[in-house]
Parts: sequence; C-alpha cells; structure tokens
Amino acid sequence: MRTWNWMFTTCLLASLSAAAQQPADSQPSSPAATPAAIQTGQPASSGQASQPAPSPQTEQAPASAVAALPQPATMDQVVDRFIEREHGLVKALENRTPVVETYLQDLVADPQLGAVPSGDHYFLGRMDMGESVDRRDYLKQQDKGMRTRLMGGFQKLFKVQYQPMGFSWMVYADRADFDREHYEFHYIHREFLGDVRCLVFDVTPKKNSGRGRFLGRLWVEDQDFNIVRLNGTYAPAPKNSYFFHMDSWRLNLIPGYWVPSYIYSEEGDFSAGAKNKIAFKAQTRIWGYDLKKSDKDDELTQIRVDSVKDDSPAAQDASPLQAEREWQQQAEDNVVERLTRAGLLAPAGDLDKILMTVVNNLLVTNNIDLPRPVRTRVLLTAPLETFSVGNTIVISRGLVDVLPDEASLAAVLSHELAHIVLGHNLGSKFAFNDRMLFSDESTYQNLGFKHIPEEEAAADKKAVDLLKSSPYAQKLDTVGLFLKALQTRASQLSALLTPHLGNTLAENGTVTRLSSLASGGPALDMNKLDQIAALPLGGRVKVNPWNDKAEMVKTAPVTITSARDKMPFEVTPFYPRLARFGAANFPSAGTTTATVNSNSGN
Ligand SMILES: [Zn+2]
Repeated sequence: MRTWNWMFTTCLLASLSAAAQQPADSQPSSPAATPAAIQTGQPASSGQASQPAPSPQTEQAPASAVAALPQPATMDQVVDRFIEREHGLVKALENRTPVVETYLQDLVADPQLGAVPSGDHYFLGRMDMGESVDRRDYLKQQDKGMRTRLMGGFQKLFKVQYQPMGFSWMVYADRADFDREHYEFHYIHREFLGDVRCLVFDVTPKKNSGRGRFLGRLWVEDQDFNIVRLNGTYAPAPKNSYFFHMDSWRLNLIPGYWVPSYIYSEEGDFSAGAKNKIAFKAQTRIWGYDLKKSDKDDELTQIRVDSVKDDSPAAQDASPLQAEREWQQQAEDNVVERLTRAGLLAPAGDLDKILMTVVNNLLVTNNIDLPRPVRTRVLLTAPLETFSVGNTIVISRGLVDVLPDEASLAAVLSHELAHIVLGHNLGSKFAFNDRMLFSDESTYQNLGFKHIPEEEAAADKKAVDLLKSSPYAQKLDTVGLFLKALQTRASQLSALLTPHLGNTLAENGTVTRLSSLASGGPALDMNKLDQIAALPLGGRVKVNPWNDKAEMVKTAPVTITSARDKMPFEVTPFYPRLARFGAANFPSAGTTTATVNSNSGN
C-alpha cells in the first residue's frame, strides 16, 4: 500500500453527494477510509530496509547497460523486454517520494459551452514509491468492509467518493504482477509520439487473474523498450465501484528511464439519454522526484547557517537600519529555501526572467528604487495565488497558466510589488532557523504570508497606481476581462481559488483582488471568438518533474473555432511532445494543452 502524506489533512477524501445533489464539498474522511490508514502495517521507515535502488541520477548510466543488450528480434522478445524494463523502473524509483497533485473539475452540461465545471477538488501529497503493493490481498481485505478499495477509481453507493490515490495509481500498469502470467499482449502498430517512435500494444488481463487488472494500451519506445504512455482502465471492478479511465504519460528525464509525469482522467457522457451522471476531468501531475526524503537527520544537516555577508570595505558592523535589512533578507532566504526543499517552489530559472522583466517594467516607470532587490519565484501548484516573502514575489503555476497576456500578469504581480513598496512584508520571524524545522508535509501549517484586510486594500490601491503609470496602462482592458471571467467561474472553482500560503483572490465566490479594475474593459462575451479573457490550465508553464525547473511552454496559437474552445480555467488532457533525454526539443505547434517536454534535466 502506498503511503500518502497529505499536506492538506482536510482534503484526504473529497466526497460529493450524487443523490442529494448537494454542492460539491470537501470533507475530511474518517481515518479508516483514508488510503494511508489501510497500509499493510509497514512503518514509514521500512523503505530503508529494502535494498537501495541504484540512483538513476548518477553517472553509472543505466541507459548504456540497456543498449548493450541485443535488440529483440520478435514481438515476443519485445514484450519480455518492456516487462523487464517496467520492473526496472519500479526498482529505480522505489526510494523516491515525489509530490503528487491532482486537480479535478466536476462537469455539468451547458447548452452553449458543452461540459463546464460545476465544482472542483484539489489534492496534494507526497507519494512513497518504495512500498510494495499486494493488490489481491488488498482487495480481499476490502471486500469485508466498507473501506474504500479502489486503486484507480471511485465508488458509488450513496455518494461518489474520489480516491486521491486512485488518480496516481496509473504510474504503473500493475506494480506487482505485470507479467505474462496475468496479461495478454497484442502488438498493434508503430506510431510516433512526438519525436519518439513507439511500438503500440493492447493489454488485456488473462481470465481469473484477479480484479482491478490493467486493461488498455501501452506505448513502448523502440530503443530501450521503456513504456512511455499508458491509456486505459482497470477491470473487473468490484461491486458498486468504478475504475476510471486514465491516460498516463512518462518523460525521459534521466538516462535510461521514462518517469511517470502526467495522468489525465476523465469520465462523463453528455449524449442524449446518457444514464451515467458521474462526470469529471482531472489532471494529476507528479514532480519533485529528486527531492530529499524528509527525515530529521537530513533536516538538521540542512539548516541554513549563512552568515551575513558584508562586502563594503570600510564598514565592520552593520548600522541599525542595515542590520534590520539583513535580518529581513535572512528571513526571506530561509523561507524561499525551505519552500524549494519541500518541492513547492521551482528553483530560480528562465520563467523568473520573464516575471522579472514585468516587475522591472513596473519599477522603472514608477521610479521606484528599493534598498533590496526584488526577486520572483514560481510556486509549482495549481491553485491561483500570489504572495510575497520579503522582497520575493511568488506566483503559482496555475495562475501564470490562465493569465491571458502580459498586462494581466503585470496586474497580479503589481499587487505583491505594492506590498513590498508599502513595507508590508516584515515577517522577520523566519530569520530564526528553528522556525524552518518542520516536515515537508506540514509546510502549510508552518508557513503563511497572508495580510490583514487593510493591507490588502492598500496594496490593491497602490497596485492600480503602479499600473497606471506603467507601459501596461493602455492595456488594462484585458485585466478587467480576466477578472470578469474569473468572477463567472468563481463559485464553481472554489478549490482552484483557495490559496495555501497567500491571500485569496476571491471571497465567498466574489473576486476581490484588484476589483477596481474589474469594471474596466469590454463586456465578457463567450461568443466573441477573438476575446480571450482567460486560458485553460496547463497552457503556459512546464515543469521538469525530476528537478522542478519551470519554464514557459512554447506553443503556436491555435485557432479558436467556437466558444467551447476557450475553456477558461479548465482542465484539459495532456499531450506532451515526447523526446529522448538530452534532445533539445521543445513543444511544437498544434496543441493547446499542457505541452510539456522532457528537457536536458541539468
Ligand atoms: Zn496581498
């Protein structure tokens, strides 16, 4: 059983009442129903007892070991090879504890726009990939009681219960029994996924091989015979339960291995007379493979003990004001470093250059000269939020994704810049290093950067002043449009609008951030195809799941042909352009979805 250490205890199990048609609502489950509670009794430390997997990151180059093997001559030999490679991947990743995020939107039919979000759910956790799964025992045990049993699905008795673990189950087709005894493999054809030529196989469970077996299709790259994509479901399902359908993608982020990175799940039938009322779409993203396992000893060796550097030749001691600034810098550095180590912040990178260009545009045109430099960082999570820590402005991946243009990016950044200019960020308590000693999973309980309402109002006012004397002054119409679009979806997307470290953009379904700009600009009109008020999630930022580096996706614009193409704030399927490790390929035209590519990984 996989161990899930949820960062949000209240999000362990989201339930929504299907029968009573109550609004979607996140509820903490009883511990007995949580995946974490149904462990096989192995303590978390048991991972240390298992044989350490060879670190795929080291220079031992597992790829060349594979390449030295003779190429398979028959499809039967190909099947043997990818089964072997799959077992090798399980082993290579068994000491990893990546971050797993699932964002799910419940769907309802809209006559004009098709399926639109009616509610949403958010899950974030760390997945221990080191624990074995005995699927059959697990199911047998589950049959005795009401405990949710689903590894890749949901249950429908009186209510629908989504199993967060289920959404990431498809990192492997079958962790324990992926072999010829349990499965039939049928070669279909060759096909390119991005730059990678693949052999495609249909996989069906053999008779009497047990419940919850993988049923679907595999794509296997034709050099080392690693699985790069899985698409299908599990079968047969237990009574009163469903396994949902999933499309699972891997990226070649380290030599020789394709690492599970994205999983798209979708259910729902909106055709006339459809009986199945369950409808949702969900994106699961995995990152932070290279994060250190969080344990006490490790943390103690990583305490920041940076001494205050004073480069000026004359001064020996800091003046009181200098000392105050150094102190704030230390607090800021501590927090940024700790959030990065928890897998929540991307390391400083190319995306920050774009963000800093916008920040500098605001600073320069407003003649603002700050004693300490402003920096930016990207929060790796989907919920729409910004916050600032000292002079570091943080913006979430999800928010960068949905912003329609540079002016709207400037608008959300200007609010945080205003806090900095107004001197609101005096959270120097984090200069004490003991306050950085907590587990990664409890980050959100230990850190928070919310401002009081008076400071929020003052920051919004100052932000508008900054924008009006900036190069963005003539482009604030799109900011107004974005805020209007956010308003139309605010009550359905409460999970997306729930910040975890900063202030909320919307209060009780009403957008409050920069509200004075919301009245500007033209009226929101979904039928105006040239009016793009907000983008779908996943269209702008790509994150390397191995090293957490974030960069801008390069996609060519795709023509919007109907209002249904706009999909503001919506979840879409993944279609990464696959490339081999080290190939400097970037996403090409033809996709509006989360176009994410493996990159050099350095
Ligand atoms: Zn604020």
